[in-house]
Amino acid sequence: MNEVVRWSVAVETPMHTAVGGLLDYTSQYSLTPGSLVRVPLGRRVVPGIVWARAPAEAPAAELRAVGTVLDALPPLDTHWRALVDFAARYYQRGIGELALAVLPPDLRKLDVAQMARRVSRAMRPQAAEAAAAAEAAAAGAAGAAAAELPALGDEQSAALRAIGADDRPMLLHGVTGSGKTEVYLRAAASALAAGRQVLVLVPEINLTPQLEARFGARFPGGRLVSLHSALTPAQRVQSWLQAHLGIAELVLGTRMAVFASLPRLGLIVVDEEHDASFKQQEGARYSARDLAVWRGHQLRVPVLLGSATPSLESWQRVREGRYRRLTLSSRVGGGGLPRVRLLDMSSLPRTPGTEQVLAPSLTEALRERIERGEQSLLLLNRRGYAPVLHCTACGWKSGCPHCSAWRVFHKADRTLRCHHCGLAERVPRACPDCGNLDIAPIGRGTEKLEEQLGALLPGARVARIDADTTRGSGRLAQQLAAVHDREVDVLVGTQIVAKGHDFRHMTLVAAVNPDGALFSSDFRAPERLFALLMQAAGRAGREAANAEHSEMWVQTWHPRHPLYQSLRTHDYEAFASAQLVERRAAGLPPFASLALVRAEARDAARATGFLRDAAAALGACGGAAEAARAVVVHAPVPAPVARVADVERVQMLVESGSRRALQAALAAWLPELHGLRRRHKGLLRWAVDVDPIAI
Ligand code: ADP
Ligand code: ZN
Ligand code: ZN
Repeated sequence: MNEVVRWSVAVETPMHTAVGGLLDYTSQYSLTPGSLVRVPLGRRVVPGIVWARAPAEAPAAELRAVGTVLDALPPLDTHWRALVDFAARYYQRGIGELALAVLPPDLRKLDVAQMARRVSRAMRPQAAEAAAAAEAAAAGAAGAAAAELPALGDEQSAALRAIGADDRPMLLHGVTGSGKTEVYLRAAASALAAGRQVLVLVPEINLTPQLEARFGARFPGGRLVSLHSALTPAQRVQSWLQAHLGIAELVLGTRMAVFASLPRLGLIVVDEEHDASFKQQEGARYSARDLAVWRGHQLRVPVLLGSATPSLESWQRVREGRYRRLTLSSRVGGGGLPRVRLLDMSSLPRTPGTEQVLAPSLTEALRERIERGEQSLLLLNRRGYAPVLHCTACGWKSGCPHCSAWRVFHKADRTLRCHHCGLAERVPRACPDCGNLDIAPIGRGTEKLEEQLGALLPGARVARIDADTTRGSGRLAQQLAAVHDREVDVLVGTQIVAKGHDFRHMTLVAAVNPDGALFSSDFRAPERLFALLMQAAGRAGREAANAEHSEMWVQTWHPRHPLYQSLRTHDYEAFASAQLVERRAAGLPPFASLALVRAEARDAARATGFLRDAAAALGACGGAAEAARAVVVHAPVPAPVARVADVERVQMLVESGSRRALQAALAAWLPELHGLRRRHKGLLRWAVDVDPIAI
């Protein structure tokens, strides 16, 4: 009989545990770290991952034995475990919690026989795909496709040559249509040719079906798998297994895919690297972009971050020489960017009592487009009909009884809906407070804009795309198809329509009312607005023939605002420089590191009480006193939406000029917070968000 060995196993423990989710077990069989197993935990049997040999502290007799080993699954390699180790440490979560959370949910449920079946199914390419691949090979399609590749521009070639030339992550900076995707495709092709796997991260696959289609067309025959939450659980297991087994050569996925197991990983691409959706907003709040950079560094494989409007974090790293900048300075085919027109709303004649929907000149510009058979896009980042209803007699407003937010008026189904807690009720006929019948919408959402456009442009085919119109699978694709098929003259939409779509016949994009973000309390709001507007502008004039007369209009009360001035000249660099000066002066990222501790309770005072005690505990963290001195803990404040579904949310910002000091302080502090939590009974939840993206 074999010697009994102690193993540390990563398991999802019900609560945060001081040991970080690694529990010790014994086994008389020889185990390989990275193996998926089942272990007893309390009265349950739970999935776990063998992490490492455990130090022989506890007498083996007191430990329980590892149960089943799912040995059909090859072990997760050291690199994968190192990635999870790092992410757990950096984002202050348990290793076990994170390691299991990033596996496909259904994979954890499989028993030994099911696992063996799934693995063998994943090993043989799908029959249909194999047939397609054979057909393609027979027709010589692969050869033909290769022959049709466009000749690269000088900057594209230079970018490709730079990949792998040194160890630094690369920032590929180029406007929409400048040929970034072509660079990704070529870089991927070389990595595949060298026998390596490629990971491509995108913000939201649903919003960029063309990107997936282009990769699929370039790499046919089942070499590409996708990984995102819209897959069925079975598809997700299949994709994940094919990546893990090395069958899939290319993984295209959303943020979760950064944790894909890729034994031969040779290149990581992060498209639209500035996009906020790379940051997970619950559980372990990781940044897939930042983890991608870490993973590339760990494996010494190239990381290519692409964007027209890089995050200021990445841009600052370029300025410090830590990232290498690659530039694509113009649109392929020489088409210019749309001309930006800032429309000064204060210069419009005002008629009391009427609301200026669109400036007359903008309405005229829309009419011209319709006559020429071209399309226009109106961007309004607020869905619903009107953000609030209001009583003209007593001043009642349609607040949500459970949230500190207004309920939005949706005219189509005559409801008042809270976008935070989901409460929906029929619109009252009269003011609930005074009985007045005259209750009126204030402000405007996409639904109202759509209605108003119908009146302004009789006969025009107006369509709307936002979260309300795209509920239900396939709805978004259908609506986008209608736009591509030119069944739509004017498209109204939220930011959903500003991203990635390749609308060939669009020559006018207008931001109807974007000023709000200029004065937001979130220091990143201007950065997000600039990126959104640049991206929206990129929807116009994608057909070189149309580029000449393509325009981006911005209706604003602040036409001289520096953000709009930079937009006018498509000058990301000027915008970034100005922002970085402000950030440095204010001691904000990328010149400081932040963490946000959030607390939730029925009663705000309880949440605040927890955070106050937490702040005091940091000062008292013995060994980490030095680290604690290097961080500043701000006073607890209500979250931007302070109450949601009757839960009060309070947050406390922790900052430091040194990332290392912040990390050291958090590491010493977190165990204290877990302990403290037990003494605060009224607290519902608390969490720490490292490098938060919304303050
Ligand atoms: P981006 O990703 O920056 O938006 P794309 O790579 O999608 O840019 O390129 C824009 C368009 O130009 C695409 O239709 C693409 O096929 C085409 N394209 C890219 N590179 C070249 C090239 N070197 N020669 C000709 N066409 C190109
Ligand atoms: Zn009233
Ligand atoms: Zn609500």
